[in-house]
Amino acid sequence: MDKKTELIIDKLHSDRSLTEEEYAYLIEHRDEESTCRLASLAVAAREQVYGRDVFIRGLIEISNYCKNDCFYCGIRRSNKDCERYRLGEDEILRCCEEGYDLGFRTFVLQGGEDAFYTDERLCGIIRTIKERFPECAVTLSLGERSKESYRRLYEAGADRYLLRHETADEKHYASLHPSELTLENRMRCLKDLQEIGYQTGCGFMVGSPGQTVKELAKDLRWIETFKPAMCGIGPFIPHKATRYADMKPGSVELTCYLLSVIRLIQPNILLPATTALATLDDKGQEKGILAGANVIMPNLSPMEARSKYRLYDNKAYSGTEAAQNVEDLKRRMEEIGYKVVTNRGDIKGN
Ligand code: SAH
Repeated sequence: MDKKTELIIDKLHSDRSLTEEEYAYLIEHRDEESTCRLASLAVAAREQVYGRDVFIRGLIEISNYCKNDCFYCGIRRSNKDCERYRLGEDEILRCCEEGYDLGFRTFVLQGGEDAFYTDERLCGIIRTIKERFPECAVTLSLGERSKESYRRLYEAGADRYLLRHETADEKHYASLHPSELTLENRMRCLKDLQEIGYQTGCGFMVGSPGQTVKELAKDLRWIETFKPAMCGIGPFIPHKATRYADMKPGSVELTCYLLSVIRLIQPNILLPATTALATLDDKGQEKGILAGANVIMPNLSPMEARSKYRLYDNKAYSGTEAAQNVEDLKRRMEEIGYKVVTNRGDIKGN
């Protein structure tokens, strides 16, 4: 680690803020020493807010129908080889029941942008979940909707919303998405969600096609200003039915490095060690936690759905990624000195 990197890390630690150039420098000068230094500061910062607790969320993939055509995504509408499915209200509730018994107190309903899930249907589902499991949080991750729609879902009882911004750079955004999808609308959605009162999550892929250090630095700067409750970052992984089939996946090490940086930007942020990390590396989620993450989102979807909700190749869903194996997850977290807890795991002090 050179002197300048050391000074930048000190500044990040004390000010929780850097310039875009400083973020870029930090990323470019990633080495063993800077990785260790950032991780140890990140772990200490998290410990002050959340101790050694790891929050778990039960992920229910409610539909892989999607009207969008994001170039990197396996369930994009133009992938004709994708066998489509959607879960009905009863199936979703059965997942919640199973999850509740396993100790989950947050249910995340994620899916493609599927017109079947009108506000009316979703509000009904959310109300029923909240009636049956009043001490549980409901998180939605259903893409871009109108502010009015977000408001209705919030009033029905949804607590949180995950919508990765994907990249804070206009040009990069346009290279990853068809022209009908814009960064401007993505950001409008995120702002609306925050204004309505959701605990709002943003995020991005690490190593997405065409991404450079500059784009990553921009993401970090943007996160500073947005102040999200959550931030989902994971390595990009190619999917065979996309134009990026032959690209190489993003780096697990860089992802963990950025987790540490984000933890230092905002010590109270809820930061998942994502399934993509587990997909690329058997110890990926442990590495994420040891870099400063504090959330894991095991899969609660019905088995038939899991193999079809394939955003990228080889997506893990049967090992520790399966909610049913939460005992295994608990043991793995204990082995590294952490504790899976049974509570909603809301953001502290926001
Ligand atoms: N449709 C919803 C949520 C589902 S996609 C939405 O748009 O928010 C959830 C996330 O998976 C996306 O935000 C994206 O960042 C990630 N993802 C999609 N394809 C991926 C790939 N090939 N590799 C890694 N992550 C991917």
